[in-house]
Amino acid sequence: MSETPEKFYISYNNIHKLCQQTAKEILDKNEKPDVIIGISGGGLIPARIIRTFLKKKGEKNIPIQAIGLSLYEDLGLDDSVETIGKEVIRTQWLDFGALDKHFDSLIGKKVLIVDEVDDTRTTLHYAVSELEKEVHEQQKRLNRLNEKTTFTVFVLHNKDKPKRADLPKEMLESGHYMAAVTVPDVWLCYPWEADDIEEQTRLAKLQGND
Ligand code: 5GP
Repeated sequence: MSETPEKFYISYNNIHKLCQQTAKEILDKNEKPDVIIGISGGGLIPARIIRTFLKKKGEKNIPIQAIGLSLYEDLGLDDSVETIGKEVIRTQWLDFGALDKHFDSLIGKKVLIVDEVDDTRTTLHYAVSELEKEVHEQQKRLNRLNEKTTFTVFVLHNKDKPKRADLPKEMLESGHYMAAVTVPDVWLCYPWEADDIEEQTRLAKLQGND
C-alpha cells in the first residue's frame, strides 16, 4: 500500500474544476445563492470562480462580499499543548452599504460562505455563528422573525480529523455543508502560495490534483 504524502499540491485547474462541479450541484438543487461571502484570503479565489458557474446566461452577477478572519494562537498561562486555545480575530466584516445596493438585508436570503479548507473548523464555526447572529439581530430589529435565511458552506477541502468547533447540525444534515474533496490530515499547498507555479502544477499533476 502506498503511503499518504506529507503534502498535497493543488493546481489552479483543479480548483477551477472543483468550483465548477460544486456550482452544478448547487444549481441542480435549485439553490442558487443571493450572495457569496468569501473568507479572506483563501476563500476569495474559490468564491470568484464559483460565481462564474452559478450564473446563468443573462442573469446578474451574484455579489461577493469578503470577510477577513485570522486565527490567533493563544498560548494561555502555561504553555502545555492542551491549553493552546485558538481565537478568531475579525479583520474585515460585511459591507452593509454595498449589500443594500443589491437588497435590503440578508434576511430570507440564500448565503454561500466560501473558504479554501476546513481544518479544525474554528474559522467556519466563527463565520457561521457570527453571520447567523447578525441576521437574527436584523430580524428582531425589523420584526421579520418569520423569514428563513439559508447558510451554505462551501470549502474545496475538508480534512478528515477531529474538529475543535462545530457547525449547525441542521446545516450538516441538510446538505448545506459542501466540501468538494475530503482529504486526510495533511498539509495542502495551494497555488496562490507557490513561489514556482510550474513546479506546483507539476507536483499537483503527479498527485492527480489537476
Ligand atoms: P481552521 O483550523 O479554522 O479550519 O482553518 C484555519 C485556516 O488555517 C484556514 O483558513 C487556512 O488558511 C489555514 N490552513 C489550515 N490548514 C491548511 C492547509 O493544509 N494548507 C493551507 N495552505 N492553509 C491551511
